[in-house]
Amino acid sequence: MVRTLDSIESIGVVGAGTMGSGIAQVAAQSGYDVVMRDIEEDFVQNGFDSIEDSLDRFVSKDKLSEDEAAQTLDRITGTTELSDLADCDVVVEAAVEDMDIKQDIFADLDEEIPEDVILATNTSTLSITTIASVTDREEQIVGLHFMNPVPVMKGVEVVVGEKTDDEVAEFAHELAEDLGKETWESDDKPGFVTNRILMPWINEGIRAYDEGVATKEDIDKGMKLGTNTPMGPLELADHIGLDICLDASQTLFEELGDRYKPAYLLKRKVDAGDLGKKTGKGFYEY
Ligand code: NAD
Repeated sequence: MVRTLDSIESIGVVGAGTMGSGIAQVAAQSGYDVVMRDIEEDFVQNGFDSIEDSLDRFVSKDKLSEDEAAQTLDRITGTTELSDLADCDVVVEAAVEDMDIKQDIFADLDEEIPEDVILATNTSTLSITTIASVTDREEQIVGLHFMNPVPVMKGVEVVVGEKTDDEVAEFAHELAEDLGKETWESDDKPGFVTNRILMPWINEGIRAYDEGVATKEDIDKGMKLGTNTPMGPLELADHIGLDICLDASQTLFEELGDRYKPAYLLKRKVDAGDLGKKTGKGFYEY
């Protein structure tokens, strides 16, 4: 028997970056106790800084009271020790998009976390089935793909691995809904629904820019006004993080072939350390 939603009081989050800090925040805002783990103190602190900034924005827009913001922060504990997640009732992994690192994390979680606990991954493109294969609880592993920025975006993609139990998939939908989100479900195919379609769009925007079709501003403007999306491909790539886009594109390319080949300029920007908003420079400066 796995734990059901009504027995869940605490949520463990692995990774305190863009997504991990956002997931920790929405879980705490929904009343859960949260333990947020990263590999270094500084990274944990960065996570808290992002959460505070986000809560401040909610308060300044009157969407949250100062008391609620303070209570949200109080519910989150930071740590660099994975073993501190041992008392959590469910764990969501949001570390870097790298299969070896995710498999190491899941192997460790499988050792540290009680066997009736469901383990979820926020991976954007990697196979849930392959991540789960290093554990002895493959049926209890599920994709819970939050969107960026997590506190604002309504959608969560539930990804069902080859061995994921139906009741575990159901739990993932219920948990996301309890965090105020709406869900849809994808089979464990490369990129799932969202990134399979989004990444070629972003890469084509980057290629169009690299090949001089238009300025970056006009490419973004054309796509926003022409297709009614809130961000153009280059802005969105900066927002996601160019390293995350490159990793996602690389996985899709390896799994699905040439049409998913990452744009040359995307690779060059990542090599130069210009990763988008998070480093202050990507296609635009911040
Ligand atoms: P990020 O680079 O902002 O943060 C990743 C964090 O993981 C870093 O703080 C890093 O120190 C930490 N980390 C690395 N190894 C770790 C370990 N062993 N244990 C704990 N923490 C570890 O990346 P992100 O944008 O938050 O992405 C995290 C995951 O979410 C990835 O799988 C990514 O594909 C996915 N995702 C990202 C987005 C997006 O728009 N950025 C959207 C949806 C899903």
